[in-house]
Amino acid sequence: MRNNINHLDYFNLESNLDPDTLLVRDAVRDWVDKAVRPNLEKVAESKKVPDNWFKEMAELGCFGPSLSEEHGGLGMSDLAYGLIMQELERGDSGVRSMASVQGALVMYPISIFGSPEQQSKYLKKLSLGNTIGCFGLTEPNHGSNPGGMETSLVKDGANYKLNGTKMWITNAPVADISIIWAKDTEGKVYGIILELSKKGVSVETIENKWSMRTSLTGTIYLDDVIIEPGEILPGARGLKAALKCLNKARYGIAWGVIGAAQDCYETARKYALERTQFGKPLAAFQLVQKKLAEMLTKITQAQALVFQLGYLSDSGLVTNGQISMAKRANVEMALDVARISRQILGAMGITQDYPIMRHIMNLETVITYEGTHDIHLLVTGQEITGISAFT
Ligand SMILES: Cc1cc2nc3c(=O)[nH]c(=O)nc-3n(C[C@H](O)[C@H](O)[C@H](O)COP(=O)(O)OP(=O)(O)OC[C@H]3O[C@@H](n4cnc5c(N)ncnc54)[C@H](O)[C@@H]3O)c2cc1C
Repeated sequence: MRNNINHLDYFNLESNLDPDTLLVRDAVRDWVDKAVRPNLEKVAESKKVPDNWFKEMAELGCFGPSLSEEHGGLGMSDLAYGLIMQELERGDSGVRSMASVQGALVMYPISIFGSPEQQSKYLKKLSLGNTIGCFGLTEPNHGSNPGGMETSLVKDGANYKLNGTKMWITNAPVADISIIWAKDTEGKVYGIILELSKKGVSVETIENKWSMRTSLTGTIYLDDVIIEPGEILPGARGLKAALKCLNKARYGIAWGVIGAAQDCYETARKYALERTQFGKPLAAFQLVQKKLAEMLTKITQAQALVFQLGYLSDSGLVTNGQISMAKRANVEMALDVARISRQILGAMGITQDYPIMRHIMNLETVITYEGTHDIHLLVTGQEITGISAFT
């Protein structure tokens, strides 16, 4: 029997990681353990996220770590970016969402689609957490089908007028800027860097969520907002620009949910070893061992998938279909692991004494946002049949 099992890396997948990557991974893990984890249940219950979390994540380099240093990143690999997301989500999916949005959905589009002026105006401040960003694509009437968006950008003299509503926007209630996606009169999609303090913009917090309670979500109302040409991302034309950003974030989700699953599995394993029923620890019963063995197997398979996804991404070979499959499969894995872990804890599993119920509630968002589970199934279905079943 092996005594030195690494429950967080059963197949020793991390053996090839370079020292810098391990250093950043460990620093984020340490921060989550010391600063985030002790207060998480209370923060989730009260929905009062400590102000310092955002700044501290910035100091650790959690925002866009694989962007170049010139663009506010650490110049690290996508593998390192994935591991950072995993460590944040071992704490909480909402904490990882704050970082995902800031890095993948705000800094990344400015980095690849922005003008040099826009890049120097925003990227450094975003990386330091001095400016908070959000990403407005979803609308009240258009979620899975963002191409149907009604938000309009209409020419008005030398400028434009922006009208519409963006809903379910992570970070919006605390954000300074938003990347807003809107259509012109010909139906062409544009990305805009919108300062949320502008006249005609109002933000409302979505209060009644059971899920992602450590992450603020809002609705952005746009009423005749004047947009100058310099606020439009020059390189972002068409919905595929928005989807490119979502891919970057989905990649991070495929990694992140492994952290949530590991936290649930570890909690269940420890509980099963400590809790006695019928004169034996729960861990001594075959059915409990089956659950634990299957959970570690699923987590390990998901890890193998994202490590390969990371290598593909770092070598520039990754496809949208691969990212879509990994996001869907790993989120489903994490939800399965969380639900089975919860059962191992019996009644205690539903309490705030353990993190599992919070992870389950969070993962119900993760399986929906950035493309629902079923939409990602259709993406793969389209790839393997050549037939679109979306409409
Ligand atoms: C907490 C939270 C944070 C979010 N953050 C952001 C954000 O920062 N920015 C942003 O832009 N959006 C954000 N979203 C929105 C999210 O991306 C959408 O909720 C998601 O795209 C699904 O859209 P919808 O909720 O309108 O569901 P709908 O599109 O109405 O779908 C409802 C159900 O119908 C199914 N369905 C839809 N179309 C089809 C089809 N063609 N075939 C089969 N089934 C179908 C879906 O799979 C789903 O099960 C967030 C959502 C949440 C909950």
